[in-house]
Amino acid sequence: MRHRIAVVGGGPAGLTFARVLHRHGHPVTVLERDPAPDARPPGGTLDLHAGLGQLALDKSGLLAEFQALSRPEGQAMRILDTDGTVLRDWRPRPDDRANPEIDRGQLRDLLLGPLDVQWGRGVTQVVPGGRDGVLVHFADRRQETFDLVVGADGAWSRIRSAVSSVTPHYTGVTSVETSLDDVDIRHPDLARLIGDGSVAVYGMNRSLVAQRNSGGHVKVYAKFRAPLDWHRNLDLADVEAVRSSLLALFDGWAAPVLDLLRHGTAFVHRPFYVLPVSHTWTHVPGVTLLGDAAHLMPPLGAGANLAMLEGAELAESIATGPGDLDEAVRAFEEQMWARASRWAKITTAGLERLVSPDPAEALVHFDQVQPS
Ligand SMILES: Cc1cc2nc3c(=O)[nH]c(=O)nc-3n(C[C@H](O)[C@H](O)[C@H](O)COP(=O)(O)OP(=O)(O)OC[C@H]3O[C@@H](n4cnc5c(N)ncnc54)[C@H](O)[C@@H]3O)c2cc1C
Repeated sequence: MRHRIAVVGGGPAGLTFARVLHRHGHPVTVLERDPAPDARPPGGTLDLHAGLGQLALDKSGLLAEFQALSRPEGQAMRILDTDGTVLRDWRPRPDDRANPEIDRGQLRDLLLGPLDVQWGRGVTQVVPGGRDGVLVHFADRRQETFDLVVGADGAWSRIRSAVSSVTPHYTGVTSVETSLDDVDIRHPDLARLIGDGSVAVYGMNRSLVAQRNSGGHVKVYAKFRAPLDWHRNLDLADVEAVRSSLLALFDGWAAPVLDLLRHGTAFVHRPFYVLPVSHTWTHVPGVTLLGDAAHLMPPLGAGANLAMLEGAELAESIATGPGDLDEAVRAFEEQMWARASRWAKITTAGLERLVSPDPAEALVHFDQVQPS
């Protein structure tokens, strides 16, 4: 008998899960809260690692298409001192495909392919243990029942409470994001500063990172340690007030670096929340979690990679395993927890070093993770 499977969330985790099930001919219902794929800006670029996100794309049958779309040159990384001195200038070899970059929107469209996503279907709650399966409650007050509900609904998951009472906590590091458009034409000096990939500048308890996306679009992230209510006297909707506040925070840094903030368009505040490093739960038949819903960690290049690989692995074990759905989920959870815990430790330590009272720590981190 084919199981009735629903995945809540059409991000990297949910779409990869659905795509691999689809590849194996297994039906799956994808429930996404956004009313349409382009309902909100998709966010910045993602680097997909050879043994993680790229492996997931291989399991989805999409690796060749990814390779055609992705930007290997985007792996380039330059580090500057706050006075503008170049401290590191790392460029990938022409054949280096370890961590190529792809825009989130491109990745979403690649994964969406033939999937029939139900848009505008926000889930409010799931109730496991019913005689007919797991009951899913929707924001429009409808209800549906499934044999398995997979929560791939991100940091503020509505599915998580069915298996765990844990909620995300603030790391003490926040981020304000801005963007530059047509950088090569409108801001050629900044385009040279950023290069083909990213430029990062580390100061005491703060950093500025600019990352090239496709089409001359650049995302700039100002990261700093601050209480969650650091903006209590600031109107975050007032672009010029936020700009002035950030320029004051980074006062004394080299003028070309501060131009990243001077030319930024809108500003978006994104505090970094995490789940505990080794978040696990007592297995609940009929419900599981993937990606950020299961193991939210600092955004240091692992979250989407793990989310995708988990989606692919769970789908494969359901589609190709001996047929006991609950056993497949149980075995998957053990594997996911062990790997996610390792990465949560790495990214937590990484955040401590990259937004540190001692900026030299960031260079130590870079030299350890970057191939020479
Ligand atoms: C600035 C930044 C940069 C990053 N860079 C990288 C990187 O380079 N590499 C990397 O691997 N990771 C990176 N990450 C982390 C990465 O973005 C996340 O780990 C990844 O998006 C998690 O995928 P997900 O599918 O679990 O959740 P999400 O991407 O959050 O997707 C969840 C989906 O569920 C939907 N949803 C939410 N609630 C409901 C509901 N109640 N009902 C129905 N649908 C719902 C949402 O609309 C969304 O589509 C970065 C994160 C940030 C903030």
